[in-house]
Amino acid sequence: MFLCFVMCSLNLVLLLLCRYYISKGAVVDQLGGDLNSTPLHWAIRQGHLPMVTLLLKCGADPSLTDGAGFSSIHLAVLFQHIPIVAYLISKGQNVDTADFSGLRPLMLSAQQVVGPEPTSFLLKFNPSLNAVDNVQKNTALHWAVTSGNVSAVELLLEAGANMDIKTVKGETALDLAIQTQNCFVIYMLMEEGRMRSKRNNRLLRIMEKYELFLLLASCLTVLWAIGYVMNLSSDSWLLKGCLLLFLLVGMALSVRQSVGVKNLRYLPTALMLSSVFWMSVTWFFWFMPDVTNAIVEIPVMFSLVGRLYFFYKAWRTDPGYIMSSEKDKKENIAALAEAGCLDFRTFCTSCLVRKPLRSVHRVPCDSCVARCDQHSLWIAQCIGVGNYHYYLLFLSSLTVTSVWLLYRSLLCMYQ
Ligand SMILES: [Zn+2]
Ligand SMILES: [Zn+2]
Repeated sequence: MFLCFVMCSLNLVLLLLCRYYISKGAVVDQLGGDLNSTPLHWAIRQGHLPMVTLLLKCGADPSLTDGAGFSSIHLAVLFQHIPIVAYLISKGQNVDTADFSGLRPLMLSAQQVVGPEPTSFLLKFNPSLNAVDNVQKNTALHWAVTSGNVSAVELLLEAGANMDIKTVKGETALDLAIQTQNCFVIYMLMEEGRMRSKRNNRLLRIMEKYELFLLLASCLTVLWAIGYVMNLSSDSWLLKGCLLLFLLVGMALSVRQSVGVKNLRYLPTALMLSSVFWMSVTWFFWFMPDVTNAIVEIPVMFSLVGRLYFFYKAWRTDPGYIMSSEKDKKENIAALAEAGCLDFRTFCTSCLVRKPLRSVHRVPCDSCVARCDQHSLWIAQCIGVGNYHYYLLFLSSLTVTSVWLLYRSLLCMYQ
């Protein structure tokens, strides 16, 4: 606490001193020191955001380069000061600013900073993924591969970086990975290459369009087949066990081959919907004809219909995604930084918005959700302020139906 107080007081004194010198005519963009840098460059190296905002307000030029050829945005990336990167971009610095050798912030991040940040942050501002530097003609992907920066390789591939661009020596990213003998990077590049060539195949492209239907059809078939195997007249549990194992392995392999990673997240949803379908069929064809008390069956019928209705509503209703335009995001960042409130504990670096109270960033949906409860695997959707009541009603109707069908099934088995 005492240390925080001392640090805050020191920062305040520095800001007052800087303001005083400028008021007395100090040159804002004076180059100096071993690294031939401006005061703005030094403030960025130290990660001093309030000083950066003050110097920019006083007319400092962020495009000036230091002795090593780096401009302000390069230095902020190199020293991993993401709030400063955000502020510089919000004040109009181009995310594709090149240094004297054509090195851009994204390349510098991929080459020098191991880990997902600030590469992930820069990618939010749509930098040129396939730009090359002037000397080695490397793209950001080449730089990430040569430095063994696995996180950056993953992010760049996900963003769609071109894998076929060749360096001045005629090497692709895969050639460089083989030279560095980084097995994991080689695997990532080969797997991505396989996925991309799959997308070029017309038949596979058509299949990709209908992947969700394929997934649902596979789950419906597998659940039916499980019921069929369990209902076989044979008493051999070994045979039934082997058939079930064969079914599950077959399903896992066919789903892995035919469904892309993006749509695999719908597997639990497809399984749940298939169970719901077969539960409804069981109720309609096996239990309905034997109804002795119609009054009891009416609520079950309502919960069967309600279950699908509430599932659809929970799935399609906006859970409370926090949206804002590119311009609003930049204005928001600048306003927060200048007010001294750009705190990355409350600011989402993925959505570039200040997180409201009780909102959480959910990775599967890549969005901040207001009053977020969870990302539900069963509906492949976040549950938040907009749809939690539908989700609760869906769970309630599912529970009522499941308990009733279980009761009726046990009655059938032991009567
Ligand atoms: Zn977010
Ligand atoms: Zn989600």
